[in-house]
Amino acid sequence: MAFKENQEKTLQLLHLSQTDPLTQLLNRGTYEARFNECLELNKRNANTVCVYFIDLDNFKDYNDGHGHPQGDKVIQLQAQFLKEIFQRSTDIVARFGGEEFVVVTSNIDYAQSKDFAQQIIDKWSLTKVKHAKGKGAEFVGCSVGYYYETANVNTTITDLIKKADDALYRAKNNGRACAVLY
Ligand code: GH3
Ligand code: MG
Ligand code: MG
Repeated sequence: MAFKENQEKTLQLLHLSQTDPLTQLLNRGTYEARFNECLELNKRNANTVCVYFIDLDNFKDYNDGHGHPQGDKVIQLQAQFLKEIFQRSTDIVARFGGEEFVVVTSNIDYAQSKDFAQQIIDKWSLTKVKHAKGKGAEFVGCSVGYYYETANVNTTITDLIKKADDALYRAKNNGRACAVLY
């Protein structure tokens, strides 16, 4: 194989190994590696770090009503929304699993962290994708839990994730389609 062809093949394989096939976002493994690097850098520079957990609301009902292939399209749309909102090369935007997504962004202030969370919610409320009949809302939406701090020696990924996840749990309990800061 010619050198150039070989190089392209290697890049393709690298992309495949790092990316979630359905959404083209980073996969779980790549997200973890990137998060580690990013946190080390943020600690050294005393930068802020913000973690968002995003989970589609009552998505089981959506699949039950519209079918799995249509559900896949909604997952892709969520991914597209996140790509539109988080565009910096340092933003980590990943599919965490199923209908759950995670975003890590660095060096933003409190107002920006809140604004990003609201933008995620607004994408769905503006797009108005009809939900299926069930216990939820008329249109598809998502819940967001997020946590924000200035990275310091005590900051750990486990703690950041736990706090964002706790906030997501509260967003679900608050009636969904909302964002909650830990
Ligand atoms: P909640 O608002 O509490 O999050 O309710 P939910 O129904 O979204 O939560 P639950 O965890 O019960 O269901 C998640 C659903 O997401 C069930 C599963 O079928 C669906 N799901 C997970 N991965 C995929 C996928 O790749 N494609 C499709 N279409 N559905 C998926
Ligand atoms: Mg869900
Ligand atoms: Mg879920």
